[in-house]
Amino acid sequence: MAFPKKIVLASGNKGKLREFENLFAELGVEIVPQSVLGVSDVPETGTTFVENAIIKARHAARETGLPAIADDSGIVVEALGGAPGIYSARFAGENASDQDNIDLLLERLEGESNRNAYFFCLLVMMRDGDDPVPLISEGKWHGSITQRQEGDAGFGYDPVFYVEQHTCTAAQLDKTEKNHISHRGQALNALMKQMRQLFA
Ligand code: IMP
Repeated sequence: MAFPKKIVLASGNKGKLREFENLFAELGVEIVPQSVLGVSDVPETGTTFVENAIIKARHAARETGLPAIADDSGIVVEALGGAPGIYSARFAGENASDQDNIDLLLERLEGESNRNAYFFCLLVMMRDGDDPVPLISEGKWHGSITQRQEGDAGFGYDPVFYVEQHTCTAAQLDKTEKNHISHRGQALNALMKQMRQLFA
């Protein structure tokens, strides 16, 4: 089976789009953001990353008739029983900013000595809206939550995510370095491997 010429990306995030575009360009695959194709938003009603990614990929594939890739990601904090998890983007409320979410996370961890956490990314690729065997890959990036925020690169929880290997927060890493080791980078590489096998 040949590689599809076009894949719809079920995400509106420009940073993610660029990452996908770069990787898939090597294979001659065009990545089209779902907004360009007029795909409507779908409620993320799952209770796990994998459910939400499947919901988004299936919806985009059904609405466009194209193969679709969706991702769902977040931060999982050990001392909070895995929270904020799938609710990472809306931890401090529906319209919470990154800063609101960081403030709440630091508040919840006040006085807590276990600061272990990891970023998690789940990717799904569906060949069509009824694909019974979607490709699924994941990435985990282990670190810990700092006491204070540092750095201004990246987004989300990056300023409070300490990366031991680099002795700095994710917001102090340059983009290339972060993409190389991050949860999303790991999941993307794993998905590419599966796709090369499937479509080779
Ligand atoms: P989504 O998968 O784009 O919905 O991301 C969910 C949320 O998880 C984001 O809004 C961020 O708060 C958090 N998140 C996911 N990946 C990262 C990352 O690489 N750095 C910082 N925060 C992240």
